[in-house]
Amino acid sequence: MSDYMSSRFSSLTPYTPGEQPKDKKYIKLNTNENPYPPSQGVIDAIGSEQLESLNLYPDPTCSSLKKVLSEKLGVGQENIFCSNGSDEALDFAVMCFGEKGVVFPDITYGFYKVFCDYSGYSWSTIPLKEDFTIDPSDYCDLNKLIIIANPNAPSGLALSKDAIEEIVRTNSKGVVIVDEAYIDFGGESALPLINKYDNILITRTFSKSYSMAGGRVGYAVGNPALIADLLTIKYSTNPYNIDRLNLAAATQSIIDQEYYDKCTEKIKKTREKTKEELKKLGFEVIDTQTNFVFAKTDKVYGKDLYLRLKEKGILIRYFPGERTGEFIRVTVGTDPDMDSFIIAIKEILEEK
Ligand SMILES: *Cc1c(COP(=O)(O)O)cnc(C)c1O
Repeated sequence: MSDYMSSRFSSLTPYTPGEQPKDKKYIKLNTNENPYPPSQGVIDAIGSEQLESLNLYPDPTCSSLKKVLSEKLGVGQENIFCSNGSDEALDFAVMCFGEKGVVFPDITYGFYKVFCDYSGYSWSTIPLKEDFTIDPSDYCDLNKLIIIANPNAPSGLALSKDAIEEIVRTNSKGVVIVDEAYIDFGGESALPLINKYDNILITRTFSKSYSMAGGRVGYAVGNPALIADLLTIKYSTNPYNIDRLNLAAATQSIIDQEYYDKCTEKIKKTREKTKEELKKLGFEVIDTQTNFVFAKTDKVYGKDLYLRLKEKGILIRYFPGERTGEFIRVTVGTDPDMDSFIIAIKEILEEK
C-alpha cells in the first residue's frame, strides 16, 4: 500500500475472482461461465458499424437495451437500470440502500460483504439451515437491506416466489435485493413482485445464461424510485458504464433469445446427467437449480479434489470452511467437458 491511500480504504479486503490461469489450456469449470459461444447475431452486432463508431461515447441511457428488456420482461423502461456486470448494480444498490445495515446468508456470493465494507456499512449473516436451505422466517421484520441470491450460490438451491414475497412484505422499511444471476437455469423469478412492492430490487446478468461474462453487462429491475437512486450513483461515478460494443451485443442477445434458450436447455440436460454420474460414484449432490453442481464425497476433501483435478487439466472450485470444506463446485460445461470431468473423478477415487 502507498503512503497516500485514503485511510477509509486501507483495511479493505478485496474480493478474489476465480482463477483464470494462462499456464496451459484447462477444461474451465470454475467460474460458472457458459460453455457455448454467443449467438452469430451477437458476433455480427459487434461489426464494423459499431467499431467505426468507437470514437463516439456510447449511449449513457442504454436505451436500445432497456427497450428489448422491457419487452421481454413486461416492465417499463423506467423500471430498468443497466449496469457494468450485475456486480455494479449490486455495488450501487448497497451504496444506496445499505446505510441501516445489510444482512445476507452466511454461505452465499462472496462479493456482498466486500460491497458493504467498501461503502463503510455494517453487515451480518444468518446461517443457512443444515441442508443449506434458507429459512425465510429468519429474514422477516429485519428492516435492513437484505440480499438473497436466488438460486443461491454455491448451493444452487432456490426459494419460491412466495417465500421471497414474505420477506419483502415484512421488511417495508428496508430494501430486499434478489440476485437472480442463475434464474434462467431454474427456480422461480420474483419479477412479478416489482409492481406490488416498492422495496424489491432484482439483479440479473448477461454473464451466465447469455454467454457474455467477458462483456460485463447486467441489470436491475425495480420500482422507478429505486432505479432513480441507482442512476444518481451511476451519474456520479461513471455515466458511460456500458461500452458501445457490449451494449450492442447484449441488446442483440435478447433479440436472439431462442438461441440462448436452446443453450440453457442443453446445460440443464448436462447438469442432470452430471448429477446422476456423481451420485453413482457415491457423491452427495445438492439439488441445484443453476449451471453448477455442489457435491461432496467422504473420500476426498474439497481442496484435495481441486488440486488433483487441476493436475489433470480440469479447474473447479472449493470453499474452505467448516460447512463447505468437503464440497466442490463444478460449473456445467459441454457434454464432452463433463465426460472428462467424470473420468478424472473416477481415476482419483480409484487411486485412493
Ligand atoms: C456471477 C454472479 C454475479 C455477478 O455477475 P456479473 O458477471 O458481475 O454480472 C452476481 N451474483 C452471483 C450470485 C453470481 O454468481
